[in-house]
Amino acid sequence: MKKYTTVIVTILIACLAVASQDSTPPVEAVRISEHVYELRGGSGSNSAFILSDEEVFIIDGKMSDKAAADMLAAVQAITDKPVTHILLTHSDGDHVNGLTGFPASLPILAQNNTKIHMVGANEDRDVKLPLPTLTFSDSFTIESGSLVIEMYHFGQAHTDGDAVIYIPADKVAVIGDLYFEGRDPLIHLHKNGSSYGLVKTLKAILNLDVDVFLSGHAEPAGRSDIQALLESIEEKQIKVESLIKEGKSLDDIKTAFGLPLTESRWKSLVEVIHIELTEK
Ligand SMILES: [Zn+2]
Repeated sequence: MKKYTTVIVTILIACLAVASQDSTPPVEAVRISEHVYELRGGSGSNSAFILSDEEVFIIDGKMSDKAAADMLAAVQAITDKPVTHILLTHSDGDHVNGLTGFPASLPILAQNNTKIHMVGANEDRDVKLPLPTLTFSDSFTIESGSLVIEMYHFGQAHTDGDAVIYIPADKVAVIGDLYFEGRDPLIHLHKNGSSYGLVKTLKAILNLDVDVFLSGHAEPAGRSDIQALLESIEEKQIKVESLIKEGKSLDDIKTAFGLPLTESRWKSLVEVIHIELTEK
């Protein structure tokens, strides 16, 4: 009897494993513009790739070796040009943990602070993340044949290592987690993120000649979407500031915004703004 129970449990676990695999949508490449494709599905965030006349630049690595293999397969289904570089928008696990599934020889480009956060993450990992091999502070330009790719860091925002990857010829930018849709943006204070910095960064992004913004967890966005997010953050900043001046407690402020008083895994934007205004 015991034996049968073990067999049944084993089958059940196997079924659950298959079911959970099936619940992750397959990686799919969606053409956005002449040179840019978004890679949706798989475990982790949206990623993307840029195809020049000569080579392929992958942007972000999703979060598993399988997702990485599926990304490479999706690229190969579209072009036989070689993948030569990986560009990172920032250091969060759902954007970088799949880097272990790429050939170790691929150069990785990122903002300086993203490398620092990945070095930190490696302290807790058995399988170490491959680290950026080339880092920049404010901006970096790549030329691939006639195609120009620009990477910009506009300061602290979602983290302090965010990179905006801009393809001027296509008027497209890949902006990682600087944009969220239908919810407040996430600010990682533990990675020196800043809501005030995010407003500055979104304004800087709107100064680029971009029509389509690709991000980690949303549909492609337009300029008006970025503008609306920017205004909603500023409205919250102004309201939190005035409530603090009226002497309201954090709980009063959360109640005024209709937020639960319980702690959640990620701090809400209102809590982040409150910390920025009272603790810094
Ligand atoms: Zn993120």
